[in-house]
Amino acid sequence: MPIRSRWSIDIPRVSLPTYLFGDPNGPLPDQTPCFLDADRPDKLYLTLNTFRLWAKRLAHGLRKAGLKEGDRVLLFSGNTIFFPVVVLGVIMAGGIFTGANPTYVARELAYQLKDSEARFLIVAEGSLETALHAAHSIGMDKSRVFLFDDGADTFYDEGAGKQGVRHWSHLIATPEEGAAFTWENLTTDDQLKRTASLNYSSGTTGVPKGVEITHRNYVANTSQVAHTARLSPEYEDRTKRMRLLCFLPMYHAMAQTIFGINSPKRGVPVYIMQKFDFRKMLDCIQKYRITDLSCVPPVVVKLAKDPIVKNYDLSSIENVGAGAAPLGREVCAELEQLWPEGVINVKQGWGMTEATCSVTGWDPGEKSTSFAVGELNANCEARIMSDDETNEVPLGQRGELWIRAPNVMKGYWRKPEATTATKTSDGWLKTGDMAFVDNGKFFIVDRKKELIKVRGNQVAPAELEALLLEHPDVADAAVIGALINGEELPRAYIVKQLQASVTEQEIQRFMQERTSRNKWLVGGVKFLDTIPKNPSGKILRKSLRDQAKMEVGER
Ligand code: AMP
Repeated sequence: MPIRSRWSIDIPRVSLPTYLFGDPNGPLPDQTPCFLDADRPDKLYLTLNTFRLWAKRLAHGLRKAGLKEGDRVLLFSGNTIFFPVVVLGVIMAGGIFTGANPTYVARELAYQLKDSEARFLIVAEGSLETALHAAHSIGMDKSRVFLFDDGADTFYDEGAGKQGVRHWSHLIATPEEGAAFTWENLTTDDQLKRTASLNYSSGTTGVPKGVEITHRNYVANTSQVAHTARLSPEYEDRTKRMRLLCFLPMYHAMAQTIFGINSPKRGVPVYIMQKFDFRKMLDCIQKYRITDLSCVPPVVVKLAKDPIVKNYDLSSIENVGAGAAPLGREVCAELEQLWPEGVINVKQGWGMTEATCSVTGWDPGEKSTSFAVGELNANCEARIMSDDETNEVPLGQRGELWIRAPNVMKGYWRKPEATTATKTSDGWLKTGDMAFVDNGKFFIVDRKKELIKVRGNQVAPAELEALLLEHPDVADAAVIGALINGEELPRAYIVKQLQASVTEQEIQRFMQERTSRNKWLVGGVKFLDTIPKNPSGKILRKSLRDQAKMEVGER
């Protein structure tokens, strides 16, 4: 029998923009900022009203520039207060938003541009060179590339293009046109299943794929998370005093959803940092009296262990949450000691891009005393499956976690086979995570899928293996995640071509020239005579992971 959430809620049958902003021209709650630039919060901020207006101006401008229903727009940028404007603007225009990791090299960006067949590419100034290389390599014309900025200085200057690339203000309609723009509200099942975003994830196997997140998915996930928060008797008071800090990248499902959608919906201001920087994060917490932290495990570890933390006043913090990768209870307990006893209880949640963002959470009245990731969000079901995928294992035993919920993706973009392999015909998503359940609480114990998580970022072994095979001296290759000093790091096993004399350093350099930093083989390179495989040719990753454990001497 599937395990069901103990809560069931009604999910509004509206489009994402309507859910966030109500009527396109209706009144909005108040004028307090929802997004503030963490460097210049007095100068650069958006209220819910101006957020909606900018998004409408972009939507109208995109339409004028030729965007048709279902066309993709790719944003290649670090965080800015205008990042959510692009997400919502594209969606209001009837398009599909896709965000790329701003640290990507040209080859990686070209893959996503090509796979999503993006009609427009909006790119941050610092990444223009990379973007132009990527666009050129796939034959995308410069006229479809637009220069993005944070709105500080050049925003109103339509001439502020570079290298023959137009500034994105060319995509922004006038305030009058924007005010007059209305998006299509969606109400039927078919309409609500329209894709709003493609968030890239490799899923259980293979290379990164566009995860089709629908309007229904976003509205469901935001409603589920809001429902859990509302269980607190302090909900209203907390909402009034909450201040969030976003240092996680907004191209990824976690920050996109938590900060870009859930927070403005709740009316909670978010200070937005362009990218993660530990000291700056501490500065911001102190300066802006941040109340809640959403972290990935390496941030929790650094907060718990770095002595400089003691120099900062973190007394405003009321809540610390973590997700995106495994995290032990010990380090959470260590972090809790920064505050007087009992003030902070670090809680983990679990989720994945294929489920919009969040699948499990915590009743605010409960305390976490283990590495549990909480219980199922409202309207979610789960099964813990046997290895052969035919049966559920007895309650309490380990197996692969499958989930079924209104926040589960429609499928992978133009990859029907990958979709069928991951999502059953009756809606169960095979997560590739190994878990057990105790007393309604879920515990993630291992990963059955290939995916490696480096500092919370996805790294797909299949992508790195294909790249290694392009090296003339490499006959075969396998990449796994090795746990070194508590961090998961990509480690390659390589079979050389006969007579080849390639060294570890040469392989390292080869990869560093072709991939972004998270994919560098920091976990090491080891040469083998053969890669262990099963009779059908599938790499025996578990055996390589065990081997790595012995070689690096820890787990
Ligand atoms: P992503 O799609 O990038 O969010 O990655 C999702 C994957 O991250 C999950 O399938 C898990 O393998 C891993 N993950 C997320 N949250 C946790 C957690 N709290 N504990 C362990 N693994 C997690």
